[in-house]
Amino acid sequence: MRFANQAGRFVQVLDDGVVDIAQASDGRFGPTPAAVFDEWDDFVTWAAAAERPATGPLREELLGAPSPAPRQVFGVGANYRRHVEEVGWPLPEVPLIFTKFPSSVTGPAGDIELTGPRVDWEVETVIVIGAAARRVAAADAWRHVAGITLGQDISDRDVQNLPKDYPQFSLGKSLPGFAPIGPCLVTPDSFGDRNAVEIACAVNGAEVQRDTTADLVFDVAELIAYLSGMLTLLPGDLIFTGTPGGVGLTMDPPRFLQPGDVLESAAPEIGSMRHRFIAAKEQSPS
Ligand code: ZN
Repeated sequence: MRFANQAGRFVQVLDDGVVDIAQASDGRFGPTPAAVFDEWDDFVTWAAAAERPATGPLREELLGAPSPAPRQVFGVGANYRRHVEEVGWPLPEVPLIFTKFPSSVTGPAGDIELTGPRVDWEVETVIVIGAAARRVAAADAWRHVAGITLGQDISDRDVQNLPKDYPQFSLGKSLPGFAPIGPCLVTPDSFGDRNAVEIACAVNGAEVQRDTTADLVFDVAELIAYLSGMLTLLPGDLIFTGTPGGVGLTMDPPRFLQPGDVLESAAPEIGSMRHRFIAAKEQSPS
């Protein structure tokens, strides 16, 4: 099943339109994505029990982040085997986890303001948590996944390396609009292989990244087991699972996003996103 956030309402996406979940369930579920995630297991059982007719058209221009207000957003660094080997890092012995602040979450299309001269792309799959997870074994982890969506872990490489000698990941990856996700949330059973999801991205039409999640160092089940051993994963939380090779930072010479650049991200089983980068706006006089 495929779901989306259309104008703030959780909808199921069909071939011929969308089913407004609150409307179709007589108010039992929704209307917002967050309200549905809080009852995910009951909701999925209800949704899978019957095919319901579309209640309206799919309006792509109204699609927002499938989980627009997560309480926690995790990122994973150095998690594609070929990418780690190509840059010469050692393979991490446990997942490298950082935070993306929830205020950076945005939808699958629109403008993103550049914050400096070294803003980079990182196409990734993003896990959306369904039922809360605490101390979950890897073998049970997928039961806590609502679905998989597509994301970009946009990164300001200058901010990521401040202060000098004390680099951190979180701030430079949490600037406004730096966590776009969408266009759909696809349930794990709808993938040909939920552990081999193909992703790619292109800048101004030229492909820069392509890989599948089969190359992850720590797969989805291992990430959920690891994180839920530390804390409670909550309904609607996001896990950006890491990026494959081909980011601008590792190009020779390095290449970064410029005003007017268009970044297109795609996963054949999820859909595509399109973002245009714009120059930093002037600080408004106070
Ligand atoms: Zn990343």
